[in-house]
Amino acid sequence: MDKVLSYLTLDRGQFHELTLRARVILTQLPLSLTVLLILVGGVLFHRDLFESRSFLVGVGLQALLLVVCVLVPWDRLPHASFLVIPLLDFIPIGLMRYGAGTVITGVGLLAVFPVIWLAASGLFPRAALTAGFLGSLGVVWVPVFVTDAEVSSQSLTQSFLLPFIMLAIGVTIRVMTASMMAQQAVVEEKDRALQVLLEESARRERLLDTVVNSVDVGLVALDDAGRPVLTNRKLEKLRALTGGAGDTAEEDLRIYQQDGETVMPATRRPTRRAAEGQVFSDYLLWWGERPGQRVLSTSSRVMTNQAGTREGSVVTFNDVTELVAALNAKDEFVATVSHELRTPLTAIRGYLELLTSIPDLEPEVASGLEVVSRNSERLHKLVVDLLSAAEGPPEITPAPTDFSGLVSRRIAQAEEGNSNPLVRFEDLTDAGLVALCDASRITQVLDNLLSNAIKYSPDGGRVTVRAAEVDGEVECSVTDEGSGMSPEELEGVFSKFFRTSGARNAAIPGVGLGLAIAQGIVQRHGGTITCRSVEGEGSVFTFRLPLAHIEQGRPLQAQ
Ligand code: ADP
Repeated sequence: MDKVLSYLTLDRGQFHELTLRARVILTQLPLSLTVLLILVGGVLFHRDLFESRSFLVGVGLQALLLVVCVLVPWDRLPHASFLVIPLLDFIPIGLMRYGAGTVITGVGLLAVFPVIWLAASGLFPRAALTAGFLGSLGVVWVPVFVTDAEVSSQSLTQSFLLPFIMLAIGVTIRVMTASMMAQQAVVEEKDRALQVLLEESARRERLLDTVVNSVDVGLVALDDAGRPVLTNRKLEKLRALTGGAGDTAEEDLRIYQQDGETVMPATRRPTRRAAEGQVFSDYLLWWGERPGQRVLSTSSRVMTNQAGTREGSVVTFNDVTELVAALNAKDEFVATVSHELRTPLTAIRGYLELLTSIPDLEPEVASGLEVVSRNSERLHKLVVDLLSAAEGPPEITPAPTDFSGLVSRRIAQAEEGNSNPLVRFEDLTDAGLVALCDASRITQVLDNLLSNAIKYSPDGGRVTVRAAEVDGEVECSVTDEGSGMSPEELEGVFSKFFRTSGARNAAIPGVGLGLAIAQGIVQRHGGTITCRSVEGEGSVFTFRLPLAHIEQGRPLQAQ
């Protein structure tokens, strides 16, 4: 009842959200109130109305029906049961109309209430319209039949219009209700879909939260203005190492460069770079003060919306302190062992030279010494490579160099020492190229590329060397038709100690340092070195060096 009252006072809820009982009462109430109005009118102006028994019985029945509406637990009965009320409503209406006679006219119009109720219920549409029509017809015809007066066509057609008006109202209400119900069904469907979406998005948020906080990598997501919109617990812990709390700006954190002491400028800090839309990987930072300093590898990726425009970035912070320490320890170990090997190796090579220079050696002794000498040279090259890899980028002394001559000489040298007769050489070097480079270091690069081209062409093929001036630089490439590499292998080809599984399985000699050293040398010159390769078809290594602008007549560096 509370709900009914609050609905009537318009302060709560939608009609369809009320209980069925409340809705039945509310729907019956307009009819009951109109009857009450007629009663008040009768008391005030037409007392003779109360002399009619039919009228009084009608009023009593109407009141009884309202009581039934209130008392019956409609929610527990079959849903359509409440339709009995509008159907029964026609009886008191008929009685009141008959009883009111000509004292109060138009009482029959009360039939509009049950007609509207039946049509608007949306249940059994045709039966409801028919019942409304027949009910209204009953209201006007039943008195004609039950009274003593003779039934005539005149008496039957006197109020004949009422049932048709009621039918028209019923049809109109039915059409409007059907359209409203269809609209409501659409809204409810959308509501359900929205609910499902909301639940799904809440589930995804929980999942994201769990994943983000369970990974051992610091994470921050930035919006397009560079403001953090999401961080995880790992990042909070890492920030604590640098003296930063949750809201400390990145430029106030104690972040250092590789030496662990020079403060990293604000513009080169990862979140700042990511906020500017930069994409980077494995960008190393030294985080916090010594002794507890950590090394972090940071990466940034751009987030885009459906239209492909940048919406922000995600930056990851990975603690690689132990890895960096292990790599440093490995480099130190390699450098120490190489140093220790160099001294006895120098003595061995010296004595070998002495021994091989002895005249009239026994042929077996001479060939034995030849094997020892070849292997000690290989060992020497390995030690030199290990030392230069451990020392980092080499020192260079660039000078204008006859690059064309240098390349041709290295090809000739490679041809001479070539142990693979299936490999042929082709020199497509442009004449007169002058590069600004350290000739001895570039010799090292060329020798490495040429020896690789031979080593990794076990079935032979052509090794083509091209050199030309391209975009104001000297470009040189070494192309082979050998084993080639897969795209994954290609990614690591310039890393220290990298060897493809094919090279290892075929026991091709090498330790995976030549290309790392070659890259260091070329980069020291301000140049670039790249590789293209197709597995089973061959590889192309290309490097570029600065051109030398020389004055006429000045001598060139030669090797
Ligand atoms: P090394 O040849 O001593 O192993 P490098 O640094 O020169 O070391 O080369 C690294 C690795 O790259 C080689 O082990 C080999 O697997 C691969 N590689 C280099 N050059 C070629 C090439 N021309 N064709 C195919 N694979 C190559």
